[in-house]
Amino acid sequence: MNNILNFQTAIEQANSIVIFSHVNPDGDTLGSMIGLSKLIELNFNKKTTNVIIGKTPDTYAFLPYINECVCNQDMDKSKVYDLAIAVDVAAKDRMSDMQDIYFNAKNTANIDHHITNNNYGNINIVKGFASSGGEVVYEIAKGLNWKINSEIAELLYIAILTDTGGFRFENTSSKVFTYASELIEMGLNPTQIYRQCYESKPKAMALLNAYAIQNAVFRENDKIAYTIITKDDMKNFNAKSDYTEGISETLRQINSTEIAMLLKELPNQMTKVSLRSKKVDVSKIAEVFGGGGHHYAAGCTIQKPPKIAVEKLLELAKKSLNE
Ligand code: AMP
Ligand code: MN
Ligand code: MN
Repeated sequence: MNNILNFQTAIEQANSIVIFSHVNPDGDTLGSMIGLSKLIELNFNKKTTNVIIGKTPDTYAFLPYINECVCNQDMDKSKVYDLAIAVDVAAKDRMSDMQDIYFNAKNTANIDHHITNNNYGNINIVKGFASSGGEVVYEIAKGLNWKINSEIAELLYIAILTDTGGFRFENTSSKVFTYASELIEMGLNPTQIYRQCYESKPKAMALLNAYAIQNAVFRENDKIAYTIITKDDMKNFNAKSDYTEGISETLRQINSTEIAMLLKELPNQMTKVSLRSKKVDVSKIAEVFGGGGHHYAAGCTIQKPPKIAVEKLLELAKKSLNE
């Protein structure tokens, strides 16, 4: 509670507030960031600067107020904010080139739900058991008796919905359904949101997903499933960077899969890895490479091309199957 009160005091005292979402933004970080921004506007009559690092994914272009967000490239790096807030940002390096602005701020808040979060802010509201950043923001709003309107409810609902994989993943607690129900009561339309989140994929994204599954490699009696997407694949499918979202989940849907891995080739001989599992704690594998996340969903970037990165990953994955 103390942290929550400190957070409110920090908002009250700040004349300039900036909120950061994480690189390769997803529905949770965007919904939580914009939802929190609108909560601050509604309850404290203060406008915040909301920063998207990288490109706005096509799939979330429908989010209310997304057009009011600014891109990291347009940020003045010399500006010192009174308060900088990170939402759903597991580790400071997930703020990429915005870390200096965050840490130069007079006060910093870190609102998150990743177990690997190391409390990098002055005020840390990190709930490792919460489903999503959206759930944490909603609990803050409830705890402080903040007013909420239907658009804010929609943003927080989208954050919770997408991070629980449509109320399916292991982070789907009874609390999640209680909060979802409360948010729906505020006037949002769950069917419409479902369609926007899950039935509005660009064709190239669906085709890239199919291609990635078709090319999957299976090891250890099919317990490990991985697939590699190269820069050329991305070009051939005319795919934007967020079009690979969902591929590792599709691999995990196979009954034999215990660990699913997507390796995506990045420029400069680097590889972005998405790990998913059913029982194994894959955040431990991600942490070996400086990444992190949750037990059953984690990620990291490896400073090697996919063909080399996969060997090290396979070694660690095999070991963790036997632990
Ligand atoms: P992704 O595979 O990118 O969808 O990420 C899966 C989960 O791991 C998400 O909760 C991410 O926030 C988290 N994650 C991904 N990459 C990193 C990283 N480099 N450091 C910490 N957490 C990460
Ligand atoms: Mn996220
Ligand atoms: Mn999240």
